[in-house]
Amino acid sequence: MCGVFGVFGVDYAERYAFYGIYALQHRGQESVGIAVSDFETIREVKKVGLVLEAIRREDLEKISGYSAIAHVRYSTAGDPGGINSQPLLRNTRFGRVAVVHNGNLVNYLPLRAELEHKGVNFMHTSDTELFLALLDDGELIPDGIDLHPSDERILPGVFYTMSRVKGAYSLIYLFKDRLVAVRDPMGFRPLLMGRFKDAVLFASESCAFDILQAELWREVKPGEVVVVDSQGIRSYFPFKSQRKAMCIFELVYFSKPESFVFENWVYKARKRMGELLAYEDDLVMDIVVPVPDSGLVPAIGYAQAKGLPLELGIIRNHYVGRSFIEPTQELRDIKVLMKLNPNKAVLEGKKVVVIDDSLVRGTTSKKIVGMLKRAGAKEVHMRISSPPVIGPCYYGIDTPTRDELIANRMELEDIRKFIGADSLKYLSLESLRTVVDSPQDFCDACFSNNYPLEVEGTALRIR
Ligand code: SF4
Repeated sequence: MCGVFGVFGVDYAERYAFYGIYALQHRGQESVGIAVSDFETIREVKKVGLVLEAIRREDLEKISGYSAIAHVRYSTAGDPGGINSQPLLRNTRFGRVAVVHNGNLVNYLPLRAELEHKGVNFMHTSDTELFLALLDDGELIPDGIDLHPSDERILPGVFYTMSRVKGAYSLIYLFKDRLVAVRDPMGFRPLLMGRFKDAVLFASESCAFDILQAELWREVKPGEVVVVDSQGIRSYFPFKSQRKAMCIFELVYFSKPESFVFENWVYKARKRMGELLAYEDDLVMDIVVPVPDSGLVPAIGYAQAKGLPLELGIIRNHYVGRSFIEPTQELRDIKVLMKLNPNKAVLEGKKVVVIDDSLVRGTTSKKIVGMLKRAGAKEVHMRISSPPVIGPCYYGIDTPTRDELIANRMELEDIRKFIGADSLKYLSLESLRTVVDSPQDFCDACFSNNYPLEVEGTALRIR
Protein backbone atom coordinates (compact mmCIF):
# COMPACT_ATOMS: atom_id res chain seq x y z
CA MET A 1 0.00 0.00 0.00
CA CYS A 2 2.12 2.77 -1.38
CA GLY A 3 2.02 5.20 -4.25
CA VAL A 4 4.92 5.96 -6.58
CA PHE A 5 5.43 8.79 -9.02
CA GLY A 6 8.23 9.76 -11.42
CA VAL A 7 8.89 12.56 -13.89
CA PHE A 8 11.74 13.16 -16.35
CA GLY A 9 12.33 16.12 -18.61
CA VAL A 10 10.84 19.22 -17.06
CA ASP A 11 12.14 22.19 -15.08
CA TYR A 12 10.91 22.25 -11.48
CA ALA A 13 10.43 18.48 -11.60
CA GLU A 14 10.12 18.51 -7.80
CA ARG A 15 6.88 20.50 -8.05
CA TYR A 16 5.36 18.08 -10.54
CA ALA A 17 6.39 15.26 -8.21
CA PHE A 18 4.76 17.07 -5.29
CA TYR A 19 1.40 17.42 -7.04
CA GLY A 20 1.60 13.98 -8.61
CA ILE A 21 2.22 12.24 -5.32
CA TYR A 22 -0.45 14.35 -3.64
CA ALA A 23 -2.97 12.81 -6.06
CA LEU A 24 -1.88 9.38 -4.79
CA GLN A 25 -2.28 10.25 -1.11
CA HIS A 26 -5.00 7.61 -0.71
CA ARG A 27 -2.32 4.93 -1.28
CA GLY A 28 -0.37 5.86 1.86
CA GLN A 29 -0.54 8.38 4.67
CA GLU A 30 2.40 7.57 6.95
CA SER A 31 5.17 9.37 5.14
CA VAL A 32 6.05 11.17 1.93
CA GLY A 33 9.34 11.70 0.12
CA ILE A 34 10.67 13.28 -3.06
CA ALA A 35 14.13 12.78 -4.62
CA VAL A 36 15.31 15.06 -7.40
CA SER A 37 18.23 15.06 -9.85
CA ASP A 38 19.68 18.15 -11.48
CA PHE A 39 22.11 15.94 -13.49
CA GLU A 40 24.87 16.77 -11.00
CA THR A 41 23.54 15.21 -7.86
CA ILE A 42 20.46 13.68 -6.24
CA ARG A 43 18.83 15.43 -3.31
CA GLU A 44 15.79 14.44 -1.32
CA VAL A 45 13.24 15.46 1.24
CA LYS A 46 11.39 12.92 3.37
CA LYS A 47 8.80 13.67 6.01
CA VAL A 48 6.37 11.77 8.21
CA GLY A 49 2.74 12.73 7.57
CA LEU A 50 0.49 13.83 4.72
CA VAL A 51 1.87 15.44 1.55
CA LEU A 52 0.28 18.87 1.95
CA GLU A 53 1.10 19.14 5.64
CA ALA A 54 4.57 17.61 5.62
CA ILE A 55 6.26 19.11 2.54
CA ARG A 56 6.86 22.88 2.61
CA ARG A 57 7.75 25.27 -0.15
CA GLU A 58 11.22 25.74 1.37
CA ASP A 59 11.76 21.97 1.18
CA LEU A 60 11.06 22.01 -2.55
CA GLU A 61 13.23 25.08 -3.18
CA LYS A 62 16.24 23.19 -1.82
CA ILE A 63 15.90 20.26 -4.22
CA SER A 64 15.01 21.77 -7.58
CA GLY A 65 15.89 19.71 -10.65
CA TYR A 66 14.99 18.17 -14.00
CA SER A 67 13.84 14.69 -12.95
CA ALA A 68 12.23 13.40 -9.77
CA ILE A 69 10.62 10.46 -8.06
CA ALA A 70 8.18 10.53 -5.15
CA HIS A 71 6.50 8.15 -2.77
CA VAL A 72 3.69 7.96 -0.23
CA ARG A 73 4.02 5.12 2.19
CA TYR A 74 1.78 2.88 4.17
CA SER A 75 4.07 0.24 5.58
CA THR A 76 3.37 -3.39 4.80
CA ALA A 77 6.96 -4.52 5.43
CA GLY A 78 9.50 -3.08 7.82
CA ASP A 79 9.06 -0.61 10.65
CA PRO A 80 6.32 1.94 10.06
CA GLY A 81 8.37 4.91 11.32
CA GLY A 82 10.39 7.42 9.36
CA ILE A 83 13.47 5.23 8.93
CA ASN A 84 11.92 3.37 6.02
CA SER A 85 10.36 6.41 4.37
CA GLN A 86 11.05 6.45 0.66
CA PRO A 87 12.75 7.31 -1.64
CA LEU A 88 15.60 5.18 -0.31
CA LEU A 89 19.05 6.36 -1.40
CA ARG A 90 22.34 4.52 -1.59
CA ASN A 91 25.81 5.13 -2.96
CA THR A 92 26.33 2.44 -5.59
CA ARG A 93 28.93 1.78 -8.28
CA PHE A 94 26.67 3.97 -10.49
CA GLY A 95 26.89 6.84 -8.02
CA ARG A 96 24.01 7.92 -5.85
CA VAL A 97 20.77 6.15 -6.74
CA ALA A 98 17.28 6.64 -5.31
CA VAL A 99 14.33 4.25 -5.58
CA VAL A 100 10.60 4.22 -4.82
CA HIS A 101 8.73 0.91 -4.58
CA ASN A 102 5.14 -0.30 -4.35
CA GLY A 103 4.69 -3.97 -3.46
CA ASN A 104 6.22 -6.61 -1.20
CA LEU A 105 8.95 -9.14 -1.88
CA VAL A 106 8.35 -12.73 -0.81
CA ASN A 107 12.05 -13.65 -0.56
CA TYR A 108 13.28 -10.59 1.32
CA LEU A 109 14.59 -12.28 4.46
CA PRO A 110 16.67 -15.06 2.84
CA LEU A 111 18.02 -12.64 0.22
CA ARG A 112 18.97 -10.05 2.81
CA ALA A 113 20.63 -12.74 4.94
CA GLU A 114 22.63 -13.87 1.90
CA LEU A 115 23.85 -10.33 1.19
CA GLU A 116 24.65 -9.65 4.85
CA HIS A 117 26.70 -12.84 4.86
CA LYS A 118 28.71 -11.33 1.98
CA GLY A 119 29.32 -8.20 4.08
CA VAL A 120 26.67 -5.90 2.60
CA ASN A 121 25.41 -3.32 5.11
CA PHE A 122 21.72 -2.47 5.33
CA MET A 123 20.55 0.81 6.81
CA HIS A 124 16.80 0.12 6.64
CA THR A 125 14.40 -2.66 7.56
CA SER A 126 12.21 -2.62 4.46
CA ASP A 127 12.45 -4.92 1.47
CA THR A 128 12.90 -1.92 -0.85
CA GLU A 129 16.56 -1.59 0.14
CA LEU A 130 17.32 -4.82 -1.74
CA PHE A 131 16.66 -3.01 -5.04
CA LEU A 132 19.65 -0.77 -4.28
CA ALA A 133 21.92 -3.29 -2.58
CA LEU A 134 21.58 -5.83 -5.41
CA LEU A 135 22.68 -3.28 -8.03
CA ASP A 136 26.22 -3.76 -6.70
CA ASP A 137 25.99 -7.53 -6.35
CA GLY A 138 26.05 -8.69 -9.96
CA GLU A 139 25.27 -8.21 -13.63
CA LEU A 140 23.07 -10.07 -16.08
CA ILE A 141 22.08 -9.62 -19.71
CA PRO A 142 19.43 -12.26 -20.47
CA ASP A 143 19.60 -14.05 -23.83
CA GLY A 144 18.05 -12.13 -26.68
CA ILE A 145 18.35 -8.70 -25.05
CA ASP A 146 20.13 -6.06 -27.15
CA LEU A 147 21.07 -3.09 -25.06
CA HIS A 148 21.12 0.46 -26.39
CA PRO A 149 24.68 1.83 -25.89
CA SER A 150 23.36 4.28 -23.32
CA ASP A 151 22.01 1.37 -21.21
CA GLU A 152 25.06 -0.90 -21.28
CA ARG A 153 26.46 0.33 -17.99
CA ILE A 154 23.41 0.37 -15.73
CA LEU A 155 20.82 -2.10 -17.01
CA PRO A 156 22.82 -5.32 -16.43
CA GLY A 157 22.71 -4.39 -12.71
CA VAL A 158 18.95 -3.77 -12.90
CA PHE A 159 18.36 -7.07 -14.74
CA TYR A 160 20.48 -8.93 -12.18
CA THR A 161 18.40 -7.35 -9.38
CA MET A 162 15.19 -8.49 -11.08
CA SER A 163 16.58 -12.00 -11.42
CA ARG A 164 17.17 -12.23 -7.65
CA VAL A 165 14.02 -10.72 -6.15
CA LYS A 166 10.64 -12.45 -6.08
CA GLY A 167 7.33 -10.80 -5.41
CA ALA A 168 5.47 -7.62 -6.16
CA TYR A 169 7.34 -4.53 -7.32
CA SER A 170 6.30 -1.54 -9.32
CA LEU A 171 9.27 0.73 -8.84
CA ILE A 172 11.13 3.70 -10.23
CA TYR A 173 14.89 4.24 -9.97
CA LEU A 174 16.29 7.74 -10.15
CA PHE A 175 19.86 7.82 -11.47
CA LYS A 176 21.58 11.16 -11.95
CA ASP A 177 20.85 11.19 -15.67
CA ARG A 178 17.81 8.93 -16.10
CA LEU A 179 14.72 7.24 -14.72
CA VAL A 180 14.31 3.48 -14.89
CA ALA A 181 10.78 2.17 -14.25
CA VAL A 182 10.33 -1.54 -13.53
CA ARG A 183 7.26 -3.73 -13.05
CA ASP A 184 7.57 -7.30 -11.81
CA PRO A 185 6.89 -10.03 -14.37
CA MET A 186 3.61 -11.04 -12.70
CA GLY A 187 2.45 -7.42 -12.63
CA PHE A 188 0.96 -7.44 -9.12
CA ARG A 189 0.83 -3.66 -8.70
CA PRO A 190 -0.12 -1.10 -11.35
CA LEU A 191 2.32 1.33 -12.99
CA LEU A 192 1.25 3.80 -15.68
CA MET A 193 3.09 6.08 -18.09
CA GLY A 194 1.98 9.60 -18.95
CA ARG A 195 3.13 12.49 -21.16
CA PHE A 196 3.25 16.18 -20.45
CA LYS A 197 4.84 18.38 -23.14
CA ASP A 198 8.31 16.80 -23.53
CA ALA A 199 8.23 15.20 -20.08
CA VAL A 200 7.59 11.52 -19.38
CA LEU A 201 5.70 10.59 -16.24
CA PHE A 202 5.16 7.38 -14.26
CA ALA A 203 2.54 6.80 -11.57
CA SER A 204 0.78 4.06 -9.64
CA GLU A 205 -2.57 5.30 -10.96
CA SER A 206 -3.69 7.53 -13.78
CA CYS A 207 -5.33 10.01 -11.37
CA ALA A 208 -1.83 11.42 -10.78
CA PHE A 209 -1.70 12.52 -14.44
CA ASP A 210 -5.09 14.25 -14.28
CA ILE A 211 -3.97 16.75 -11.66
CA LEU A 212 -1.02 17.74 -13.90
CA GLN A 213 -3.26 17.92 -16.98
CA ALA A 214 -0.96 15.31 -18.47
CA GLU A 215 -1.97 12.65 -20.94
CA LEU A 216 -2.37 9.03 -19.89
CA TRP A 217 -0.08 7.19 -22.30
CA ARG A 218 -0.01 3.49 -21.45
CA GLU A 219 0.71 0.92 -18.75
CA VAL A 220 4.21 -0.23 -17.99
CA LYS A 221 3.60 -3.90 -18.78
CA PRO A 222 4.30 -6.78 -16.42
CA GLY A 223 8.01 -7.58 -16.65
CA GLU A 224 8.82 -4.39 -18.57
CA VAL A 225 11.77 -2.10 -17.89
CA VAL A 226 11.41 1.43 -19.28
CA VAL A 227 14.42 3.76 -19.43
CA VAL A 228 13.99 7.50 -19.96
CA ASP A 229 16.99 9.77 -20.45
CA SER A 230 18.07 12.65 -22.68
CA GLN A 231 18.44 10.21 -25.60
CA GLY A 232 14.83 9.06 -25.46
CA ILE A 233 12.68 6.21 -24.15
CA ARG A 234 13.64 2.55 -24.40
CA SER A 235 11.71 -0.55 -23.37
CA TYR A 236 13.01 -4.03 -22.47
CA PHE A 237 11.39 -7.29 -21.41
CA PRO A 238 14.28 -9.19 -19.80
CA PHE A 239 12.19 -11.94 -18.13
CA LYS A 240 9.09 -13.79 -19.23
CA SER A 241 6.59 -14.79 -16.56
CA GLN A 242 4.72 -18.08 -16.43
CA ARG A 243 1.61 -16.18 -15.39
CA LYS A 244 0.39 -12.72 -14.48
CA ALA A 245 -1.12 -11.90 -11.10
CA MET A 246 -2.55 -8.39 -11.16
CA CYS A 247 -4.16 -7.54 -7.82
CA ILE A 248 -7.94 -7.61 -8.15
CA PHE A 249 -8.23 -5.81 -4.80
CA GLU A 250 -6.95 -2.67 -6.56
CA LEU A 251 -10.21 -2.73 -8.53
CA VAL A 252 -12.36 -3.69 -5.52
CA TYR A 253 -11.09 -1.09 -3.09
CA PHE A 254 -7.63 0.32 -3.28
CA SER A 255 -7.31 2.40 -6.45
CA LYS A 256 -9.30 5.60 -6.80
CA PRO A 257 -12.55 5.21 -8.76
CA GLU A 258 -11.50 7.67 -11.47
CA SER A 259 -8.21 5.85 -12.12
CA PHE A 260 -7.28 3.56 -14.99
CA VAL A 261 -5.26 0.54 -13.88
CA PHE A 262 -4.62 -2.93 -15.34
CA GLU A 263 -6.29 -1.81 -18.58
CA ASN A 264 -9.54 -1.19 -16.67
CA TRP A 265 -11.38 1.92 -15.59
CA VAL A 266 -11.79 1.35 -11.87
CA TYR A 267 -15.19 3.05 -11.82
CA LYS A 268 -16.65 0.73 -14.47
CA ALA A 269 -15.26 -2.38 -12.79
CA ARG A 270 -16.51 -1.35 -9.36
CA LYS A 271 -19.96 -0.40 -10.66
CA ARG A 272 -20.17 -3.76 -12.43
CA MET A 273 -19.45 -5.49 -9.11
CA GLY A 274 -22.52 -3.73 -7.70
CA GLU A 275 -24.67 -4.74 -10.68
CA LEU A 276 -23.61 -8.38 -10.38
CA LEU A 277 -24.33 -8.29 -6.66
CA ALA A 278 -27.85 -7.09 -7.47
CA TYR A 279 -28.38 -9.85 -10.05
CA GLU A 280 -27.36 -12.47 -7.46
CA ASP A 281 -29.76 -11.04 -4.88
CA ASP A 282 -33.57 -11.36 -4.83
CA LEU A 283 -33.97 -8.76 -2.08
CA VAL A 284 -36.16 -5.69 -2.80
CA MET A 285 -35.98 -2.93 -0.17
CA ASP A 286 -36.97 0.76 0.05
CA ILE A 287 -33.58 2.38 -0.46
CA VAL A 288 -29.93 1.58 -1.26
CA VAL A 289 -27.39 3.27 1.01
CA PRO A 290 -23.64 3.29 0.22
CA VAL A 291 -20.99 3.17 2.91
CA PRO A 292 -18.95 6.23 1.95
CA ASP A 293 -16.73 6.43 0.10
CA SER A 294 -15.72 2.90 -0.79
CA GLY A 295 -19.27 1.55 -1.19
CA LEU A 296 -20.52 4.42 -3.35
CA VAL A 297 -19.65 3.13 -6.83
CA PRO A 298 -20.89 -0.46 -6.32
CA ALA A 299 -24.04 0.98 -4.68
CA ILE A 300 -24.73 2.98 -7.85
CA GLY A 301 -24.46 -0.23 -9.87
CA TYR A 302 -26.63 -2.15 -7.41
CA ALA A 303 -29.34 0.53 -7.23
CA GLN A 304 -29.51 0.99 -11.00
CA ALA A 305 -29.71 -2.77 -11.59
CA LYS A 306 -32.52 -3.08 -9.02
CA GLY A 307 -34.32 0.11 -10.01
CA LEU A 308 -34.17 1.29 -6.39
CA PRO A 309 -33.45 4.82 -5.14
CA LEU A 310 -29.90 5.47 -4.00
CA GLU A 311 -29.90 7.64 -0.87
CA LEU A 312 -27.07 9.14 1.14
CA GLY A 313 -28.10 7.51 4.41
CA ILE A 314 -24.59 7.83 5.79
CA ILE A 315 -22.71 11.12 5.56
CA ARG A 316 -18.96 11.15 5.76
CA ASN A 317 -16.90 13.74 7.57
CA HIS A 318 -14.10 14.38 5.10
CA TYR A 319 -11.65 15.66 7.65
CA VAL A 320 -10.86 12.12 8.87
CA GLY A 321 -8.78 9.50 7.03
CA ARG A 322 -9.94 6.01 6.12
CA SER A 323 -10.44 3.57 9.01
CA PHE A 324 -8.39 0.90 7.21
CA ILE A 325 -5.30 2.94 7.82
CA GLU A 326 -5.12 3.10 11.64
CA PRO A 327 -2.77 0.55 13.18
CA THR A 328 -4.83 -0.58 16.21
CA GLN A 329 -8.42 -1.75 16.55
CA GLU A 330 -9.24 0.87 19.18
CA LEU A 331 -8.14 3.68 16.90
CA ARG A 332 -10.11 2.19 14.03
CA ASP A 333 -13.23 2.00 16.25
CA ILE A 334 -13.00 5.66 17.17
CA LYS A 335 -12.41 6.64 13.59
CA VAL A 336 -15.57 4.92 12.36
CA LEU A 337 -17.68 7.00 14.72
CA MET A 338 -15.75 10.17 13.94
CA LYS A 339 -16.15 9.93 10.24
CA LEU A 340 -19.60 8.46 9.55
CA ASN A 341 -22.87 10.02 10.62
CA PRO A 342 -26.37 8.63 9.94
CA ASN A 343 -28.78 10.74 7.92
CA LYS A 344 -32.10 10.31 9.74
CA ALA A 345 -33.99 12.25 7.07
CA VAL A 346 -33.75 9.30 4.70
CA LEU A 347 -33.43 6.38 7.12
CA GLU A 348 -36.42 6.64 9.44
CA GLY A 349 -38.90 3.82 8.91
CA LYS A 350 -37.07 2.52 5.81
CA LYS A 351 -35.96 -0.96 4.82
CA VAL A 352 -32.35 -0.36 3.86
CA VAL A 353 -29.80 -2.23 1.73
CA VAL A 354 -26.38 -0.97 2.74
CA ILE A 355 -23.50 -1.59 0.32
CA ASP A 356 -19.81 -1.78 1.19
CA ASP A 357 -16.88 -2.87 -0.96
CA SER A 358 -15.46 -5.46 1.44
CA LEU A 359 -15.91 -6.95 4.89
CA VAL A 360 -12.59 -7.75 6.54
CA ARG A 361 -12.73 -7.81 10.33
CA GLY A 362 -16.45 -7.09 10.60
CA THR A 363 -16.10 -4.45 13.29
CA THR A 364 -16.77 -1.50 10.98
CA SER A 365 -19.87 -3.18 9.52
CA LYS A 366 -21.17 -3.90 13.03
CA LYS A 367 -20.88 -0.22 13.93
CA ILE A 368 -22.56 0.87 10.70
CA VAL A 369 -25.51 -1.49 11.10
CA GLY A 370 -25.98 -0.36 14.72
CA MET A 371 -25.78 3.28 13.67
CA LEU A 372 -28.41 2.85 10.92
CA LYS A 373 -30.80 1.06 13.27
CA ARG A 374 -30.39 3.70 15.98
CA ALA A 375 -31.21 6.29 13.32
CA GLY A 376 -34.58 4.63 12.72
CA ALA A 377 -34.04 2.18 9.84
CA LYS A 378 -36.69 -0.57 10.05
CA GLU A 379 -34.46 -3.23 8.49
CA VAL A 380 -30.76 -3.19 7.55
CA HIS A 381 -29.48 -5.68 4.97
CA MET A 382 -25.73 -5.68 4.39
CA ARG A 383 -24.42 -6.40 0.89
CA ILE A 384 -20.71 -6.68 0.06
CA SER A 385 -19.50 -6.12 -3.51
CA SER A 386 -16.61 -8.60 -3.18
CA PRO A 387 -16.32 -12.16 -1.83
CA PRO A 388 -15.37 -12.98 1.79
CA VAL A 389 -11.73 -12.11 2.54
CA ILE A 390 -10.27 -15.42 3.73
CA GLY A 391 -6.52 -14.96 3.34
CA PRO A 392 -3.87 -12.31 4.05
CA CYS A 393 -1.97 -10.54 1.30
CA TYR A 394 1.80 -11.00 0.95
CA TYR A 395 2.11 -8.77 -2.09
CA GLY A 396 1.70 -5.27 -0.75
CA ILE A 397 -1.84 -4.73 0.56
CA ASP A 398 -2.28 -4.46 4.31
CA THR A 399 -4.88 -7.07 5.18
CA PRO A 400 -4.99 -8.46 8.71
CA THR A 401 -3.53 -11.82 9.71
CA ARG A 402 -5.55 -14.91 8.83
CA ASP A 403 -6.90 -15.18 12.40
CA GLU A 404 -8.26 -11.63 12.34
CA LEU A 405 -10.29 -12.19 9.16
CA ILE A 406 -13.86 -12.73 10.26
CA ALA A 407 -14.72 -14.96 7.29
CA ASN A 408 -12.02 -17.34 8.47
CA ARG A 409 -13.48 -17.65 11.92
CA MET A 410 -17.23 -17.62 11.32
CA GLU A 411 -19.87 -19.00 9.02
CA LEU A 412 -22.06 -16.53 7.07
CA GLU A 413 -24.94 -16.70 9.56
CA ASP A 414 -22.61 -16.09 12.50
CA ILE A 415 -21.10 -13.07 10.75
CA ARG A 416 -24.62 -11.74 10.12
CA LYS A 417 -25.44 -12.10 13.81
CA PHE A 418 -22.13 -10.49 14.79
CA ILE A 419 -22.72 -7.39 12.70
CA GLY A 420 -26.41 -7.29 13.68
CA ALA A 421 -27.81 -7.13 10.11
CA ASP A 422 -31.17 -8.55 9.05
CA SER A 423 -29.39 -10.34 6.20
CA LEU A 424 -25.90 -10.51 4.73
CA LYS A 425 -24.70 -11.42 1.25
CA TYR A 426 -21.38 -11.21 -0.59
CA LEU A 427 -20.62 -11.07 -4.31
CA SER A 428 -19.57 -14.53 -5.47
CA LEU A 429 -15.98 -15.14 -6.55
CA GLU A 430 -17.28 -16.41 -9.89
CA SER A 431 -19.03 -13.10 -10.55
CA LEU A 432 -16.06 -11.03 -9.41
CA ARG A 433 -13.88 -12.87 -11.92
CA THR A 434 -16.24 -11.93 -14.77
CA VAL A 435 -15.62 -8.22 -14.13
CA VAL A 436 -12.22 -8.38 -15.86
CA ASP A 437 -11.54 -9.65 -19.38
CA SER A 438 -8.82 -12.14 -18.45
CA PRO A 439 -9.39 -13.31 -14.86
CA GLN A 440 -6.56 -15.83 -15.18
CA ASP A 441 -4.17 -12.84 -15.30
CA PHE A 442 -5.34 -11.57 -11.89
CA CYS A 443 -4.47 -12.50 -8.33
CA ASP A 444 -7.52 -13.09 -6.13
CA ALA A 445 -5.70 -15.02 -3.40
CA CYS A 446 -7.22 -13.12 -0.49
CA PHE A 447 -10.63 -14.30 -1.73
CA SER A 448 -9.64 -17.75 -2.99
CA ASN A 449 -6.49 -18.83 -1.10
CA ASN A 450 -5.01 -19.46 -4.54
CA TYR A 451 -1.61 -17.81 -3.95
CA PRO A 452 0.44 -17.22 -7.09
CA LEU A 453 3.76 -16.99 -5.18
CA GLU A 454 4.79 -18.68 -1.95
CA VAL A 455 6.56 -16.70 0.75
CA GLU A 456 10.16 -17.82 1.28
CA GLY A 457 11.14 -17.74 4.95
CA THR A 458 8.93 -15.83 7.36
CA ALA A 459 6.45 -13.40 5.88
CA LEU A 460 7.50 -9.89 6.77
CA ARG A 461 4.44 -8.29 8.31
CA ILE A 462 4.15 -5.65 10.94
CA ARG A 463 0.46 -5.64 11.70
S1 SF4 B 1 -3.77 -11.46 -2.17
FE1 SF4 B 1 -5.51 -10.06 -2.55
S2 SF4 B 1 -4.75 -8.03 -2.03
FE2 SF4 B 1 -2.96 -9.36 -2.29
S3 SF4 B 1 -2.32 -9.14 -4.44
FE3 SF4 B 1 -3.70 -10.87 -4.35
S4 SF4 B 1 -5.75 -9.99 -4.76
FE4 SF4 B 1 -4.38 -8.32 -4.21
